[in-house]
Amino acid sequence: EGGGINARPLTLPPNTTLAKFGEYIARVADIVGQENVTVISSDAELQHDDYLDPSKAHDMFHITPKEYFVSSAVVAPRNVPDVQGIIRLCNEFEIPIWPFSIGRNVGYGGSAPRVPGSIGLDMGRNMGKVLEVNTEGAFAVVEPGVTFMDLHNYLVERNLRDQLWIDTPDLGGGSIIGNTIERGVGYTPYGDHWMMHCGMEVVLPDGTLWRSGMGGLPNPKANPKDPPHEQPWNETFGLFNYGFGPYNDGIFTQASLGIVVKMGLWLMVNPGGYQSYMITFSKDKDLHQILEIIRPLRVSMVLQNVPTLRHILLDAAVMGNKKDYSSSDKPLTDEELDAIAAKLNIGRWNFYGAVYGPKPVRDVLLSVIKQSFLQVPGSKYYEPNDMPDNLVLQVRDGTLQGIPTTTELNWVSWLPNGAHLFFSPISKVSGDDGVAQYELSRKRCEEAGLDFIGTFVVGMREMHHIVCIVFNRKDPESRRKAHWVITTLIADAAERGWGEYRTHLAVMDQIANTYSFNDNAQMRLNEKIKNALDPKGIISPGKNGVWPKQYNAEDYKV
Ligand code: ADP
Repeated sequence: EGGGINARPLTLPPNTTLAKFGEYIARVADIVGQENVTVISSDAELQHDDYLDPSKAHDMFHITPKEYFVSSAVVAPRNVPDVQGIIRLCNEFEIPIWPFSIGRNVGYGGSAPRVPGSIGLDMGRNMGKVLEVNTEGAFAVVEPGVTFMDLHNYLVERNLRDQLWIDTPDLGGGSIIGNTIERGVGYTPYGDHWMMHCGMEVVLPDGTLWRSGMGGLPNPKANPKDPPHEQPWNETFGLFNYGFGPYNDGIFTQASLGIVVKMGLWLMVNPGGYQSYMITFSKDKDLHQILEIIRPLRVSMVLQNVPTLRHILLDAAVMGNKKDYSSSDKPLTDEELDAIAAKLNIGRWNFYGAVYGPKPVRDVLLSVIKQSFLQVPGSKYYEPNDMPDNLVLQVRDGTLQGIPTTTELNWVSWLPNGAHLFFSPISKVSGDDGVAQYELSRKRCEEAGLDFIGTFVVGMREMHHIVCIVFNRKDPESRRKAHWVITTLIADAAERGWGEYRTHLAVMDQIANTYSFNDNAQMRLNEKIKNALDPKGIISPGKNGVWPKQYNAEDYKV
């Protein structure tokens, strides 16, 4: 499947003739072997649109025409020297490359490159080993292809889960490295993945292999004659992030400055007890009061994990699609939402949390949590045993203890040919801010004829407000509306001082431009670093709005 190395690509890299492309492909096949090179040459290769069998060459949930965000070829290195060879070749040919680990990245562009015709670098296909699980230090070191499910299964199969838990996002099929460097989140106390990473090994744009933090200190047991990537890392690599001198790990997140080939992450020690719960709130307007209750509990860590406050339709969409609830093709009204809440025996808002630790610890925390939330008139407290048929509660029970799943994907099928886009602004944990963001985003969704589906994900001091814009990807009108909703919301949000934490390829430039304090000081620094480290502009041009000097962003407007 896929075009052989002599096939003609659907889209060539920028400034590259077919002959030069052919020469590049022949050379890259010499490095990684022909079996690891696929030229994207026909529409058949753009048909993968299933989470379980994701495309490695285009955005499955495209809002632009499907042919736009597409790679010219996908190349899968087998090891670190292959990555170094590929990057040197890209410098020689001045052909851009777009690294991804698994390429699911749903709602944000999947495996697709920002610049059409870039070479997709499939880091996960051949480099998927769990390199170390250190039970004493409670950390792991993984390669790009290791998914949350893989690491979880690894612990289960070796009877290590009694000791160590992972943290997983809603969907467990993505890569640990991709999610962490995109600064994704999960729902245990270790939910901030980037905060919990420790140590990186990166191939820089000139091919140099670099280790961060304590990894800069050679391991005395290493043989200096071995190639650097084969030398064991320093024993404190996975224990202390900062090392000595400037701390650079952050410049490799949501960035285009290197290719991550190994990463350490902290694992949570099994807390010795666990209880998940759901609290339902019957009225839409309870939102303000709920958020005011959450803030003091979360900053003081009575709420130990990353809890979520989900809108009724997110839960309803996991348990069915729109047709199951209504024959309406308009946004559902408050009366219709109340009817769904009654039918499913859930609230208009539903809070999912958990307590961790031995029973006395859990009991004391739960008593404070119940006292606080159950002040809201009409609220109810449930544990998974109380509601064996509530699919969402059953799934969250796993997710909040780091057990990966793909069930939450159901909500994408709210509409036929369902696809989605995330609008993800950061919010204060406050009634005023949360309600204002909710009202604004619901209004814009409804103006476009779409239902509001969303959740507040409560971090250490803020909330990631995740709005799931569900559209029909086979309907150009529906795609156009989704695109309109997100661009409009980004502008609305910026006016009120709200910015997004992550985004889809199609609106990276727009969001980057909203972070404009002091004549775009952030972007000017990002560009300086980009041009210094990657003078030929070959790694992920345009990623998160950072364009190398060779490119004119206007040429890539969507
Ligand atoms: P997922 O893990 O959800 O399948 P991806 O593998 O697509 O997601 O990764 C998400 C994004 O993270 C990519 O688009 C890319 O920008 C970045 N990324 C992923 N893996 C790497 C890597 N090994 N090196 C550099 N950047 C990466």
